[in-house]
Amino acid sequence: MLIRNATVVTAGDVVPADVLVRDGTVAEIGRALPSEGRQVIDGTGKLLMPGGIDVHTHLDMPLGDTASTDDFETGHIAAACGGTTTHIDFATQEKGRTLAQALENWHLRAQGKACIDYGFHIAVTDWNDAVAASLPELIQEGVTSLKLYMAYKGRLMVDDAAILRALQIAAKVGLLVMIHAENGDIIDLLTAQLLAAGHTAPRYHAQSRPAIAEAEATYRAIALAEIAGAPLYIVHLTSAQALDAVRRARHRGLPVYAETCPQYLAFTADDLARPGFEGAKFVCSPPLRTAADQKALWRGLALGDLQVVATDHCPWNFHGHKDRGKSDFSHILNGLPGIEERMKIVYTYGVETGRLDLQQFVALTATTPAKLFGLYPRKGSIAPGSDADLVLWDPEARGEISVRTHHSRVDHTPYEGIRYQGRPDRVWVRGRLVVEGGEWVGTKGQGKFLKRDAFHHVDWQGVKL
Ligand SMILES: [Zn+2]
Repeated sequence: MLIRNATVVTAGDVVPADVLVRDGTVAEIGRALPSEGRQVIDGTGKLLMPGGIDVHTHLDMPLGDTASTDDFETGHIAAACGGTTTHIDFATQEKGRTLAQALENWHLRAQGKACIDYGFHIAVTDWNDAVAASLPELIQEGVTSLKLYMAYKGRLMVDDAAILRALQIAAKVGLLVMIHAENGDIIDLLTAQLLAAGHTAPRYHAQSRPAIAEAEATYRAIALAEIAGAPLYIVHLTSAQALDAVRRARHRGLPVYAETCPQYLAFTADDLARPGFEGAKFVCSPPLRTAADQKALWRGLALGDLQVVATDHCPWNFHGHKDRGKSDFSHILNGLPGIEERMKIVYTYGVETGRLDLQQFVALTATTPAKLFGLYPRKGSIAPGSDADLVLWDPEARGEISVRTHHSRVDHTPYEGIRYQGRPDRVWVRGRLVVEGGEWVGTKGQGKFLKRDAFHHVDWQGVKL
């Protein structure tokens, strides 16, 4: 297959070129490549970019008696239609179970359903010596990152000693530790006090998790990583104060990385106060912040202080999930969809406004995630030998995001009515067409599990983040 006359965009370059795809990989990039005997795709007026990589998702995530609404089929179709061809999901350890059991469990969830390529992080929720001893085994399984929570006490949270020990082991074996940085004790106490005072509406969710509780935990995580001599990745960073902690660490030369998510770029805490119970659609943790925080995040993305935009895609229905918290905001299931909207939102609010250039767009949504999580150069770029995960992006396409047209299974979208400019026209996964005209045309079950390289295989000095 030959894609002709597109503008090829990578994290490094924006150049008019032809791209030849053979056996699922990029074979050649050049000018006026011969077309005889080849299927020719006309890319005139379009951008050809590496498929998006979303390194923070929760598909089919169990929670009590229910699970997040997208499974590995609907979530993957939604992802592909949004221009994302690879994601990394969190396999979460159950209390009393091993990490291997968590992994096995998540492999089963994806089996027969996967439509795009995927990997797993491990979320460690029950820390003990046996779990510590099993961390090096993850590398053989191609799972090279693990997540620890500093919040959700009694359910997911681990203490500082566990985090420090995990960081020490991670530094030795090449795992990247990801941290949910919020102070769980502060949140639990403030939540109880707000509820006791009769403050039960969705907007109090933000007050129960103040930005300083995120900044404090972010700095604490950085301190623990520095002691351990370990790299660190902060998930879903939302506030100017937390960003300051990351920036200062990076300026001191520490290998500290951070992601933010589209919801923090598109919405503020004001959305939690929408009339009726609408605000519940915007309940996620950490919570939505102020316009000033949003501005700081955009600056952070533009200046390289933030390296990744991932989604924390965790869709809950408005009816049946979100409305469990009608009389108590702490019972609103936390999480927003975004796997389908990420590329459009960052393009519309980032590239179209001039906040980001095209190379930065690709770096934030594909290339840097691939580098940090052991998928580069197989994924995250358009280069000879890389997987032909490609998005032919129509920069002129305009439309409106709506639950009526999205591909996720969730019964609403917080992005309802938002106008976008730019969307994927065609998408290929390893050279196979999966999206045409913005609609899914692929085959269920074609997605592959990706064994990822250990973190120390990446020369982070060379990554130049
Ligand atoms: Zn998450």
